Amino acid sequence: MESGGYHILVIEDEQPIRRFLRASLEDAGYRVSEAASGVDGLRAAAGQPPDVVVLDLGLPDQDGQDVLMRLREWYRSPILILSARDQEAQKVQALDHGADDYVTKPFSMGELLARLRVALRHAHHVGPEGTTVLIGDLEVDLAARIVRVQGEPIHLTPIEYKLLTTMMKHAGKVLTHRFLLREVWGPQDSQENHYLRVFVAGLRRKIEEDSARPRYILTEQGVGYRFASE
Ligand code: CA
Repeated sequence: MESGGYHILVIEDEQPIRRFLRASLEDAGYRVSEAASGVDGLRAAAGQPPDVVVLDLGLPDQDGQDVLMRLREWYRSPILILSARDQEAQKVQALDHGADDYVTKPFSMGELLARLRVALRHAHHVGPEGTTVLIGDLEVDLAARIVRVQGEPIHLTPIEYKLLTTMMKHAGKVLTHRFLLREVWGPQDSQENHYLRVFVAGLRRKIEEDSARPRYILTEQGVGYRFASE
């Protein structure tokens, strides 16, 4: 079974949503535990650490961000955020605070299951310490710093190379503008999102077959980018 019996902790105050999630996730072969508040969620996670936490940002007792930050003090496995349509800013903040991904309510179960599969693949199937990363027709030899598209070496500037390898390292995961700016240009640098867009556009021209319809660097509207995971 693709879900591998992984244990998922759902922290969500709305009982109908919890019930729906439990039924659907169990159908898909996951083991599910539930918590209806931030306090209970933190206690449940500490008591029996799950393989993934699904965390609603709108909890009655605590700010979801606080729950997230408390979890991230020790919890390394994936955290998926459930956010409401009017919580755009909180969603970005949660990703900045170490959440792996999100779905926006109302979400489809198919979408949530797909996100879970990607998150678990990253958490449990990190490849051997090879020096070559291959996604689709794109190949990066990290030791030699050579990037090939369909077997042909291409030239990247140092910033483009750093941006590409940062994205590939986190393939499948949503990366916020702030995260990428910090990783590529460093914490002191106050580069604007505009700057990032320019470099992403340049990179797309070099690695994408059709940069208007990118296959690798996908735009997450208002949030950042997601590098295709396969
Ligand atoms: Ca809620």
